This record gives sequence, structure tokens and C-alpha cells, in this order.
Amino acid sequence: MDDLIEQERIHFEALRRRIYRAVGVIGVLVVLYAQYVLLDPATAYSDLERVIYALNHMLLAGFSTVVLWKLARGSVPVERLEQHMLLFFIFQSLIFNSILPAAFNTPPEEALRGAIGDDTWFLLVCCVLAFHLYTNRRGVLIALGVYGLSFMIVIAQVIRWNMQGHDNGYGALIIQTYAMTGVLLGFMLILASYRNRTIRLQTEYAMLAATAHTDTLTGLPNRRQLYSELNALITSVADHGRPFCLCLFDLDHFKQINDHHGHLAGDQALKAVAQSVRAHLRATDRLARWGGEEYAILLPETLAGQALDVIERVRVTLQTVVVPGGACITASFGLTAYQPGDSSETLLHRADENLYAAKRAGRDRVVSDVMSVREPPDRPGSRAATRETAPEPQSAGNGRSVE
Ligand code: GH3
Ligand code: MG
Ligand code: MG
Repeated sequence: MDDLIEQERIHFEALRRRIYRAVGVIGVLVVLYAQYVLLDPATAYSDLERVIYALNHMLLAGFSTVVLWKLARGSVPVERLEQHMLLFFIFQSLIFNSILPAAFNTPPEEALRGAIGDDTWFLLVCCVLAFHLYTNRRGVLIALGVYGLSFMIVIAQVIRWNMQGHDNGYGALIIQTYAMTGVLLGFMLILASYRNRTIRLQTEYAMLAATAHTDTLTGLPNRRQLYSELNALITSVADHGRPFCLCLFDLDHFKQINDHHGHLAGDQALKAVAQSVRAHLRATDRLARWGGEEYAILLPETLAGQALDVIERVRVTLQTVVVPGGACITASFGLTAYQPGDSSETLLHRADENLYAAKRAGRDRVVSDVMSVREPPDRPGSRAATRETAPEPQSAGNGRSVE
């Protein structure tokens, strides 16, 4: 899951870099064209405006070149580059849409055209991007700061027009335009921060829920999770009458592994057992850590005879698990099949009884309570048996005495 998210992030970052590269190249071309138009004596710019615009063109071309250079070197994270670009656009918005028009005392009708044309929209986009690119608090501060500064400059300009007596009713319309933009901005910020909060809570809840159902050492479902899946399976079996089996197994003499090779080696062994057993089960089977060095396997849609084969295979596989320090691992298995009327308690009780019967019979074997279970394949090392036919301790053949 984390890998998928990381892949998606890398893909999205590469896409953004490509877009900014294209925008940077187009930006430089547009700036060169604007400078060409500015140099045309037929255009109605004053000398001061020509100087200011020419300086800004140099600034824009310089900034675009730096962005292209940083993108080519890949030395700056794309998020940081986006923040720098945004601050640059905010600077442009403040200078050309607010400060310069006020400094040149732009006539009110022209200022109104600018306000309802692109000034307020550009301001809105800058504020929303600020909220998106910075942390919640900083984003709100930048957005409100930029908006507040622009609005204050507009109000100062309207006061000046009124004092000079040539407002002609335009000032109120400009203030109304900025006020409506402010309301829209506030509304968007409230919704966005509410959404961020909800997403954060959902993520935290999902993480907590996953932790509550997962064993941290092995990454397997824990007892709580298996218990609820077992109950769900019993309910669905009661509805559809399908077979399933449950197996509990406990590692043999595991304390000795801890004692001889250390607790860390014991932990590694528990993980290795989980991986090895998981690899030998079907995708629909559930392996869980039942507790300590005990595991549970839920085998849906499985008849007792099939389950015995699967578990016998698991038992043999476990012998190949390499434990740090070179110790050998075996386990004792208690297998039981669902019978009509069973509850999770009765099933678990039977599986547990069989597990301890396997321990008593000498360990490293499978004991099942189902009479219909056919005898396990007759091969060396095979320890499978029904409880009723479980070999006598002395004949268990693993050389250990029975408790
Ligand atoms: P038996 O064959 O009768 O099951 O013998 P055993 O030694 O496996 O059983 P016992 O109940 O005496 O000991 C279980 C051991 O499992 C003791 C405990 O320290 C160890 N154990 C339980 N959980 C963990 C764990 O998370 N990590 C490690 N390293 N050891 C664990
Ligand atoms: Mg044990
Ligand atoms: Mg135990």
C-alpha cells in the first residue's frame, strides 16, 4: 500500500516537473514577445511605464530561467519550487494589480475594469494556492495577508478618489467586488480546512483500526481479527451450509529457542514461520497470530480431508524454516472441521484439545477430531492422525517423551 502511494507521488511529481518545464519555456517566449511590443514606439506607454515594464520583463525572464535551471538539475523538491513560484506570483499581483495602479492614481473606471477583469480572480487563485502549498496555518496567514493588503490598498485609493472628488460611484463597486471575492475566499478556506481535518481524522482512524486488528511483530491478523472472521464465517456457513476448517498450532519447545539464541532470534523465528506458512496457503485461507508462539489457520470452503493435507504440508514446510542460530522449528497442530451447531467457542475448544493431544502424543504432528479424515499419506516424517487414531506416545517416533 505504502509502495503504491509512493509510486503515485513520484509519478505526479514527474508530471508536475514536465508541466513547469513547458510553462517555463513558454513564459520566456511570452516575456520576449511582450518586450518586443513594449519597444514598439507606436504603443501608448509613457517612458516611466516602459522602464517599469522592461524591468519586470527582465525579472520574469530571469525567474523563468532559474526555475528551468533548477528543474533541469532536479536539486530542489518540486513542492519547494511551487512555493517559490507562488510567492513570485503574489509579488507580481501586489505590484501590478494594487501598488502601481495606486501609485499612478489610475482613474476609477479603469480600476473597476481591472478589478472585475482579472485582478480579483488572480488574487483568489494566489490565495487558494497558498492554502494548498503551505501548511494549514501558514497557508491561511499568507492567503489572508495577501488579500487583506490588496483590499486595504483599494480602500485607500477609493478614499483618495473621494477626496479628489472624481470617484463617480466606481469606488463602491470596486469595494463590493473585492468584498465578494473575500467572502468567496473565506468560504473556500473554511471548507478546505474542514475537509483537511476530516481526511486527517479518517486517516488516523484507518491507521488505528488497522493496528487494532494486526499483530505488529508478524504483520498477520491478530486474535481479535481472526475471531471476528471466524464468527462471520460461522454465520455465512449457517446460511449456505458450506464446509470450513480451523487449525490452531503451537511451536514446539519455543522457549528453548529464546533461551539458547536470544529473544531477538525468537522474534525472527516467529516472523519466518508466519511468512513460510502464509506462502503455503491459498489466498482465501487466513493465517493469524493467535498469541505468543501460537497461530491459527482458517480454511474456508475446505473439507476435513483436504484441510488435513494442507496442514500436513504446512507441518513439513515448517521444518525447513531457518531460525537465526541454526535451530530447527517444529510445531504441533490441532485441526477441526465445522459441524452444524458449532459456535466459535466450541470450534476453538476442539482445535485446542487436538493441539494439546498432539503435544501429548510427542509434538511435531497434526491431530484432527474428524473420524472421516482419511489417513495422511504414508511417507517418512508424516505425523498426521485423527485424535481417535493418534499414535501412542511411545510410537510417535520423534524421540521425545510425552508430558
Ligand atoms: P511447548 O512445546 O510445550 O509449546 O513448549 P514451549 O517452550 O513452546 O512453550 P512455553 O509455553 O513453555 O513457552 C512459550 C515461549 O514462547 C515462552 C515465551 O517467552 C515465548 N514467546 C511468546 N511470545 C513471544 C514473542 O513475541 N517473542 C519471542 N521471542 N518469544 C515469545
Ligand atoms: Mg510452544
Ligand atoms: Mg504456547
